[in-house]
Amino acid sequence: MAASSIIQAVYEQVLKRNPGEVEFHQAVKEVLDCLGPVLKKHPEYIKAKILDRIVEPERQIIFRVPWQDDNGNIHINRGFRFEFNSALGPYKGGLRFHPTANASILKFLGFEQVFKNALTTLAMGGGKGGADFDPKGKSDNEVMRFCQSFMTELFRHIGPNTDVPAGDIGVGGREIGFMFGQYKRLCNEFTGVFTGKGLGWGGSLIRPEATGYGCVFFAEEMLKTRGENLEGKVCTVSGSGNVAQYTVEKLNQLGAKVVSLSDSNGTIYDPDGIDAEKLTFVLDLKNVRRGRIKEYAEKFGVEYLDGKRPWAIKCDCAFPSATQNEISSNDAKTLLKNGCCLVAEGANMPSTPEAIEQFITNKILYGPAKAANAGGVATSGLEMSQNSLRLPWTREEVEQRLHDIMIAIHKQSYEAAEEYGQPGNLLIGANIAGFVKVADAMLDQGLV
Ligand code: NDP
Repeated sequence: MAASSIIQAVYEQVLKRNPGEVEFHQAVKEVLDCLGPVLKKHPEYIKAKILDRIVEPERQIIFRVPWQDDNGNIHINRGFRFEFNSALGPYKGGLRFHPTANASILKFLGFEQVFKNALTTLAMGGGKGGADFDPKGKSDNEVMRFCQSFMTELFRHIGPNTDVPAGDIGVGGREIGFMFGQYKRLCNEFTGVFTGKGLGWGGSLIRPEATGYGCVFFAEEMLKTRGENLEGKVCTVSGSGNVAQYTVEKLNQLGAKVVSLSDSNGTIYDPDGIDAEKLTFVLDLKNVRRGRIKEYAEKFGVEYLDGKRPWAIKCDCAFPSATQNEISSNDAKTLLKNGCCLVAEGANMPSTPEAIEQFITNKILYGPAKAANAGGVATSGLEMSQNSLRLPWTREEVEQRLHDIMIAIHKQSYEAAEEYGQPGNLLIGANIAGFVKVADAMLDQGLV
């Protein structure tokens, strides 16, 4: 059978087995569409049914999470963990707490994570999980009770050599702390079962900064291929959470000017730039007071675009750092019309397939999420190494390793794109480079 027919058959099976899971279908299609030339070069992958196996999670866990609010009312949420692929190491990937979290979204994230983790050069398989719980508006005690209940089931499925979760949307230092505490209590052992831990109890320096910093390092590498850098570039950033915050910090350090941040209610536009002092305000607003980004506009007297995303703001470089499918086809058109020459994806799958198509056709620098935002999980890998060594590394050492990894991820993606006849197309390059590593390990390990 021709490679294209094999790919089509695998995709149809995914549609049939996972009805209605549109985000998962989208993520699978994006990868499969890149693999035709790989199958031609490696018929052994066809014989071993690597594609059929790689789209099916190794294990799927779905469970009830009952908890009580401060008034004694009982709530029931649904918890998930998708242990997608362990060919390269223990399952590794974040937990997302958001009302929209469902099997489709968490499976798309788990699937992407497999290839992303392969690109980091570290020994990590891929997984993802979470719950349809909304931490927004909940008291610290309510969040703690939820996390404890969630972990009361999840603990039996994870472990430092089995599955090592981390944060994602709605899961930051506070939630990791509560979940780690409950795990320790249930297992009676202090191990590196989570990453993104507090610095005082096994966390790594630079882990909070890693996804944002890494994305900016990746953008720098992309610009280098055209003899450019970030100095003086006007940048738009969406979101105002973990990834967005440290994207802004690193962009500032490298001489760029960031003019936007957003949340699910709207966008702030600050033409003078979000400098270090204003960023300190954002960190306090979002991480301590847990307020809305609108307050930035009120505090600094800048424009607030109610209900809007930042993509109509003129920029040289765009850093989507909020959520999936946040850049539509029309947004991509507007970005291109306004002269945007680089999109680096801090969020997972933030651009729709139609938007990506336009970035690629117009030959702007496009850094796909699984390469551009891999700095977070890479530094989680470094946290695991430090936990195993029982020895913390300095800030400089971790940042240097992160920087080196981002350079390596760009190089692998760039070179794979060249090798398969699509020079400069990092979407194809990242998908192929990640896939080949996982596929080769699966071949070596037999039919599992
Ligand atoms: P946070 O929860 O810290 O921040 C998320 C931000 O995105 C918030 O500003 C949030 O606004 C906004 N947002 C979330 N959902 C939506 C939505 N549906 N529409 C508009 N805005 C939305 O999460 P992170 O910063 O950790 O994650 C952001 C993205 O980066 C996600 O796609 C995540 O998967 C990805 N990522 C994160 C990594 C990490 O290390 N944390 C690693 C790699 C990727 P609001 O507060 O209003 O909800």
